Amino acid sequence: MDNKQLQNFINGQFIDAATSRYLNVVSPLNGKQLSKVPMSSSTDLNNAVNAANAAFPKWSKTPIKERVQVFFRYKFLLEKNLQELAHMVHEENGKTIDEAIAEIEKCIELTEFACSLPQLITGEVLEVSKGVECRTEHVPIGVVASIVPFNFPSMVPNWTIPNAIALGNCMILKPSEKVPLSAGRIAELLKEAGLPDGVFNVVHGDVEIVEAICDHPDIEAVSFVGSTKVAKIVYQRATHNYKRCIALGGAKNHLMVMPDAIPGMTAQNVAASMSGCAGQRCMAASAMVAVGEVDHIIQKIVEEAQKFVPGKNLGAVINKESKERIEKFITEAEQQGAKILVDGRNTTVDGSENGTYVGPTVIDHVKPEMAVAKEEIFGPVISIMRTKTVDEAIAIENSNPYGNAASVFTQNGGVARYIMDRASAGMIGVNVGVPVPREPFSFGGWNESKFGVGDITGKSSIGFWTKLKKSTIKWNPEAGVNWMS
Ligand code: NAD
Repeated sequence: MDNKQLQNFINGQFIDAATSRYLNVVSPLNGKQLSKVPMSSSTDLNNAVNAANAAFPKWSKTPIKERVQVFFRYKFLLEKNLQELAHMVHEENGKTIDEAIAEIEKCIELTEFACSLPQLITGEVLEVSKGVECRTEHVPIGVVASIVPFNFPSMVPNWTIPNAIALGNCMILKPSEKVPLSAGRIAELLKEAGLPDGVFNVVHGDVEIVEAICDHPDIEAVSFVGSTKVAKIVYQRATHNYKRCIALGGAKNHLMVMPDAIPGMTAQNVAASMSGCAGQRCMAASAMVAVGEVDHIIQKIVEEAQKFVPGKNLGAVINKESKERIEKFITEAEQQGAKILVDGRNTTVDGSENGTYVGPTVIDHVKPEMAVAKEEIFGPVISIMRTKTVDEAIAIENSNPYGNAASVFTQNGGVARYIMDRASAGMIGVNVGVPVPREPFSFGGWNESKFGVGDITGKSSIGFWTKLKKSTIKWNPEAGVNWMS
């Protein structure tokens, strides 16, 4: 990778943005500058929307069985280029190479789902009265936009690209300005897979482009993934302009650990959930509620957390500001009386002194009112709160405004069911640290972790990326006329 200026991808070509404003793209692994990313202007967005609009009539009328052939080929290209794609994610985002490989493998799974869409979107037909039938079909919406965050440079774009495009829409992708490299490679692979020019476009930028997307009269739908603060802005602005919108926000996921939980398995799951991708996952365990006497499990969690070594099996956090913010949370909790069992502050990696690493951090005796217990930290940090009863644990989980995921660790099915029924989160785990529903199940939280109806992946996304046409049909002249037909 060289230090070149990135270009937008519009109508099947890489072209310079109409801007003089560029930001440096820096690898969190070692502080090396990777490229410069343009902060595109509304002229660039207009060009992309025009290209997508021009491509839409033909693409939307291409039978879906033909459209998904592009995604069969794209899946094979993801497999063929897996190592290269994973290295790009590793370098721009800072996650470990193993995590980056897993990310590309997930993109392959998402694409496989899109290949199955012809089997899933068959409409319905019924003779509703003598000689009169009703039928439904899923119709593409038009030009759509997908705005994505930094933590999964390839997976989150692939949450939306294969489904939205296989369902007949044309797309503008707005990558995170912090990790803009993978998007260009995705565009190249889609073109190589045979996607017609204009169907997929990439426009780099920041706030200005996001606002222009929300305001653009020719964009019909907007999907957003990022922080809750921005999700609210985007949801309000896009729906104010009468677009359909799904906006996924941040998270604070609670793991509730019962005294009967299997210690080894629980500790491994908790440590992997808090440390994976350096805690920069919206599904990361960030808060643990220890119910009753679980000191023996906490001891094991400490041992497991210490196995995560920065620069080896623990990646970097995205930048210096993020590292400082995470460390401030830890220090504040300590000053307020919490006990730091494993301390990841002031971590450096030999040979990568300019990398931005935070070591695994386990904080015990955290009070629910502390910032570390309430706010999304987005680092490899877990805050342990102690309660005497299951209901107190549920009350803590319920009081958090987010609602992405919650998990319970127990061997008691009744307790698990009790918590599953009461946790206020869209994705629930039982003895699972990262309860991401795999395809074809849909991904999406509740409360302040998601705004809009439906989910962003899986079967539930079909309703978002299509509109339903209902037809009532009568061919036989002798069929009667009534006020309904
Ligand atoms: P972010 O909200 O800062 O940025 C997301 C996108 O919005 C980027 O493309 C960015 O350019 C743009 N943006 C930033 N500020 C903006 C503003 N003021 N107005 C308009 N657009 C703006 O998020 P991030 O830091 O890139 O990603 C981390 C966040 O994403 C975390 O909160 C994490 O939980 C969340 N996330 C959620 C999910 C989920 O499924 N719920 C998945 C991944 C990440």
